[in-house]
This record gives sequence, structure tokens and C-alpha cells, in this order.
Amino acid sequence: MTMQPINKTYDVVIVGARCAGAATAMLLAALGLRVLVFDKSRFGTDTLSTHALMRPAVLLLQRWGLTDRLDEERTPRIGKTAFVYGEGQKNETVEVDIKPRNGVEALYAPRRTVLDRILVEAARDEGADVRHGVQMVDLLRADSGKVSGVRLRDESGKVHDISAGLVIGADGRRSSVARLAGATPYVWGRHATTCAFGYFEDLPVDGNRWYFRPGMGAGAIPTNHEQTCLFASVLDDFAAGPAADRARAFHQVIEESAPDIAARLPEAKLVGRLRFFPGMRGFLRQPWGDGWALVGDAGYMTDPITAHGITNALRDADILARTVAEGASLADYQLARDDLSLKFFEVSDRVASLDWDIPTVQQYHRLMSQEMGREEEALIAAAAQDTPATAA
Ligand SMILES: Cc1cc2nc3c(=O)[nH]c(=O)nc-3n(C[C@H](O)[C@H](O)[C@H](O)COP(=O)(O)OP(=O)(O)OC[C@H]3O[C@@H](n4cnc5c(N)ncnc54)[C@H](O)[C@@H]3O)c2cc1C
Repeated sequence: MTMQPINKTYDVVIVGARCAGAATAMLLAALGLRVLVFDKSRFGTDTLSTHALMRPAVLLLQRWGLTDRLDEERTPRIGKTAFVYGEGQKNETVEVDIKPRNGVEALYAPRRTVLDRILVEAARDEGADVRHGVQMVDLLRADSGKVSGVRLRDESGKVHDISAGLVIGADGRRSSVARLAGATPYVWGRHATTCAFGYFEDLPVDGNRWYFRPGMGAGAIPTNHEQTCLFASVLDDFAAGPAADRARAFHQVIEESAPDIAARLPEAKLVGRLRFFPGMRGFLRQPWGDGWALVGDAGYMTDPITAHGITNALRDADILARTVAEGASLADYQLARDDLSLKFFEVSDRVASLDWDIPTVQQYHRLMSQEMGREEEALIAAAAQDTPATAA
């Protein structure tokens, strides 16, 4: 297929086409804006992340008409979440049913090869110009200093200067847009868990299972292809040692924190290899300036232990697109984002310390649940005020 040449001018250029970038592109293109969204990675590829979605994320996917697509891809519907708390020889399990509410009937944990692809296709369907294998190499600035576009390198190596009214960095936690725009974090996490995870066949689980034991965490998430994503989290870097030691450390955490899963592992089959994330402290960065904005991990990263990054990315895509639709100042986007993020971030960071007793981490979970309820209500309230422009 011959690609159309990239235009010279767009209303909005978005760097990064995964959950944050593709969702933002879909929403802005639906408003009738001329949107270019591109990613240096290939279309449909995986990324280093597990993928449990919380209720606010599913609420948005439902609103955008995309949960049907998850069902078509045979993504398991998750009807309950179990929290298993262990200390010494004691284990306590708290089961929470996912009650149908606000159009959300179940949770999902789609592989990123599924979720990101569905969002990219939705962006393209709304008229966004979507490109993969294309890398941003610099920001362009007007004489006033305002960001006025991007310099990018296309698949063939050719460099293009593209001008845009707004450049959005959806380019992940190591965002180049943030660096080049001078966006600095103003809130930092104090802790960073490291994570090992893999995909297993013949290990079915009935819903999400989260395991917490002082010093460690683990989880089992049902996902596509009838596989279960199993992860283990500690503070020491799993990835530091040789491969055999890393695998042993992963199995040890599963044995100590999730003995019911460990007992079934001999019958299960690891598909592919284990993956390792060395950890990174979370942050909130200044998410906008003259001619630019940040969305997703580029602007706000939480520790993976609380599995909230994709939910944040979709939520902030929604808030940013509404702010643009209303013609409001991007300061409003920052205020709304921070109002829904700061408390969750603080609690998530305390969970990531892995330094708590069980009553304390249970209290953290109750606080996070309250914050997610607030997030859900805010998303519903925003949609209730939709004008024809924002509802486009
Ligand atoms: C181990 C681990 C487990 C996790 N588990 C969960 C979980 O269970 N649930 C959850 O909600 N979140 C989880 N997260 C967090 C989640 O992965 C992130 O919050 C999410 O990926 C953020 O999405 P994003 O679109 O902002 O950025 P990303 O997914 O990082 O995508 C950024 C994209 O930008 C592209 N890019 C970067 N620079 C350029 C450039 N110069 N030019 C062009 N393209 C560029 C990259 O190629 C990339 O595709 C986890 C994270 C980790 C590390």
C-alpha cells in the first residue's frame, strides 16, 4: 500500500500512539480537528506493561463504543477482584464483585497488542492521520518561543518539519516532548517497585487476584488468548542478576505471596519469556505550556504496583480533549488532572514502599477505591455537561 505523504500543517500533532496518544487523537479528530498521531514503534506491537484496567477506564472505553471491540477480541470479562493479604502464616482474602454500574458491566485486562491497536483503529476511523515507524527528533518553535510543530524522521529516514497549533507529547514516561519543552516534575514519588511478569497457559483464574505481603506484591490477571498474566513486585531490581537468578526470584515471590497460584504453576506453561521492569519513581510533570501539552505517562506516572497508568492515560485524554473542545486554557486541564490525581498518587506511592502492615495496606486500598469513585463521578459529570462540540 502506498502511504499518502505527511501534510505540512495540522491543527494538532501527537507524539506517541498508544493508550494516551491514540485515545487523544480519536477524541480530537472526532471534533473535526486535523490530527497527526505517530509512533516510532510498529503498529500492533507489545510494550513493557501489564494491563489491568480499572473501572474509570472501562467507563470511557464503553462510552467510546470500544468494549464491543474488546469482546470481539475475546478479552475475558472480569467479574470480581480478590485481594489476598498475607502476614506470617496468616492469609485473609477479601473478594469484591464488580457490580454493573454506569454502563460498566465488568472489568477487562486486554493485552496492549489488543488495546492499543483498537484505540489506533478508532483514531483512524475518526479521521486522524496515523503513522508508525515515525520518530520525533525535535520540537519547532516560533520566534516568540511558542512550540509551533515537530521535526520528525519518517520510515525512509527522511526528515520533515510539520507545523501545528498544538503539539501533544503522549510519548511515555521518558518523554522527549517533556524534555524539549522543559516540562519538569513538581511532585515526585519516593518509592519504586521493580516488576517481573509473564504469560501462562493452563492457569485460569476467576477474576483479578492481587496479593499483598509486607515487602512484596503479586497479581494474576486473566487476559486474551486464554492466558493469565502473572506478575511479582519487590523493591530490589529483579533485572540486576543473571537470567536464572531472576526467574528464581520471580518464583520465590509467587511462592511466598501467592501460594495458591504457586501450587498450580507446575501444570501451567510459560508462553515466551519473563519480562522485567527495573522500577522508576512516579511523578507529576507540568503538563502544558505555550503550544504544547502532555498526556499519559509523559505527564503523570504512577508506580505499576497500583495498576492505574492506563486508566490515568485514558482519563487525561478525555479531560485534555474536553479542554481543547471548550477552547479553555490548558491550565484547566492541569487543575482537573491534579485534582483527580494527587491523593491517589500519594497513596499509590505508600503502597509502593512495600513497607506496611496488613491493616495499613487495607486502609490504602479503601482510600484508592474512594479516589477511583471520585474519578468515575468526575467523568460522568463532565459528560453530562457535553455541548455539541465536546460530544462530537
Ligand atoms: C511493568 C509495568 C506494569 C504495568 N502494569 C499496568 C497495569 O496493570 N495497569 C495499568 O493501567 N498500567 C500499568 N502500567 C502503566 C502503563 O504501562 C502506562 O501507564 C501506560 O503505558 C502509559 O501509556 P502512554 O500511552 O502514556 O505511554 P506508552 O505506553 O509508554 O507509549 C508511549 C509511546 O510513545 C512512543 N514514543 C516515545 N518517544 C517517541 C518519539 N520521539 N517519536 C515517536 N514516538 C515516540 C513510544 O514508542 C511508545 O509507543 C504498567 C507499567 C509497567 C512498567
